[in-house]
Amino acid sequence: MFNRTVVVLVCGFLSLVGIKESLPQALSPHADIVITNAKILQADQSFVSAIAIYQQKILALGTNEQIASYIGPSTQTIHAEGKLIIPGLIDSHMHAIRAGLTYQHEVNWLGVRTKEEALYRIREAADKKPLGEWIVIAGGWVPEQFQDGAIPSPKELVIASKGHPLYLQKLYSSVFISPEGINKLGLTKHAELLSRLDIVLDSNGHATGWMSGNARTISDLFDLLPGPTPSEQNDSLKAFFKTLNHMGITGLYDPGGYNFPIESYKIFWNIHAKKELTLRVAYSLSAPKRGTELADFKKLITTLPTNDALLQWNGIGENITWGMYNNDSPTAEDQKHLQDVLEWAAKENLTVTLHWNNKESIAKLFEVIEAVQASYSIKDLRWSIAHINNIDQTSLLRMKKNHIGWLAQDALYFQALQFEEKYGKISLSYSPLLREAINLNVPLGFGTDAHRVMDFNPFVALQWLITGKSIDGKEGRTMEHLLTPYEAIDLYTKGSAYFLPDADLRGELSVGKYADLAILDKNLFTVPSNQIHTIRSELTMVGGKVVFTAGPFTYNRP
Ligand SMILES: [Zn+2]
Repeated sequence: MFNRTVVVLVCGFLSLVGIKESLPQALSPHADIVITNAKILQADQSFVSAIAIYQQKILALGTNEQIASYIGPSTQTIHAEGKLIIPGLIDSHMHAIRAGLTYQHEVNWLGVRTKEEALYRIREAADKKPLGEWIVIAGGWVPEQFQDGAIPSPKELVIASKGHPLYLQKLYSSVFISPEGINKLGLTKHAELLSRLDIVLDSNGHATGWMSGNARTISDLFDLLPGPTPSEQNDSLKAFFKTLNHMGITGLYDPGGYNFPIESYKIFWNIHAKKELTLRVAYSLSAPKRGTELADFKKLITTLPTNDALLQWNGIGENITWGMYNNDSPTAEDQKHLQDVLEWAAKENLTVTLHWNNKESIAKLFEVIEAVQASYSIKDLRWSIAHINNIDQTSLLRMKKNHIGWLAQDALYFQALQFEEKYGKISLSYSPLLREAINLNVPLGFGTDAHRVMDFNPFVALQWLITGKSIDGKEGRTMEHLLTPYEAIDLYTKGSAYFLPDADLRGELSVGKYADLAILDKNLFTVPSNQIHTIRSELTMVGGKVVFTAGPFTYNRP
């Protein structure tokens, strides 16, 4: 019979010795869930067929026969039809909370290849929305994804939007706003913002509707758009998390972001309080405003809900002080200001993540980190630098020496062309330096930086890690810089988990770890590599709880 004492003892024993095999029949506790007939990826790159799950964690792994002994009268069994099971993916740098609040109210061009499909998505939204309501495409596309590079013309965009105001953002560099949109925003009343925008004119000197500016200007422009109501935001965020579950994602490290005040977390916290979170979210706090960063952080951290297995406040970043955020020429005063905050963080044993884009200026950041370490050890605090796509070997070594990890993303899948124009073809053939980071054993997590701008689909990122080919199909990284499917998944699971408070419980499917996993519709190890981006999860589980099902597993719907 089911015996709790035995179960606890056995669980402890199993996790101590880490065995995969089942125990003798008499000792076997009954699992809550058993999955059989699968190809379950193991940390040593081997596969097993079956897994037993008990109280959120993995109880045993082995052959179908071995795991059968864990099946009791109330065990739910799932036949996986020979499909691949991977550990749940963890995006280590996704602005998911911010993005999720508006996700359902936006149109996206993710995966769009033709002008016709792009216009269809706008027309479809126009037909659904009450007249006068905005159609917003807030990034997630680049011109290179369109066949022949042909994106819809301003005229075509206006016709497709059928009288609705239209906002179309390209990366953090430019925006198209339809005439209805310009009127509705009252853009002419925002003189200061307008002065920061470059208006794109046609050959006759008429405004095209396109305007360009830097990342901050584009963010400020976006923030003029009316947001959905709190209840719409609540539904939208939950729907976004479900979409991520469909992509096999079970965990996130969310870095807050520009113009994302603490009040904006309330809907997210509330979803968690109502036990409706369908993935584990670790989040860091960015500084809300320039000049009072340290005082603001000290105050903010007293207002946060208590951490648990699903919701974890994970320190500060990615914007820690405004003077050292998107600034390649910080002053000594900017550096000192960051040092003060980082020293406080080190003293408080906080995790830190820092946004930095260019290797040319990263020495300025290392100087600060090294100054902090003159007085404090950060060795076990899981600090990281995010982005820095053009990182070089010197910076990697300096990262390692300073106990800093790297949160890398697939920005060069979308922006290979711009990168090549700026740094040259040779630089693109090895960037970002993932192979070197792996060889040097620099802690390395992977993710997307989605979204207002990037695609959140981890399989797009995994395909790029494995093939090196950018969105236009062109070769980027050369052979010796490509990752194997195993290495790519490893970065997206164990690699990302390293930066989280409960790293030892996540990132791989082994006894004693959380049962966070995804049954994939196609085998990532055998599918043609140019099809990896089409892979989806058919069953996603977080802590042994089924949070998403599709296809043959739909009958397990939670
Ligand atoms: Zn960033």
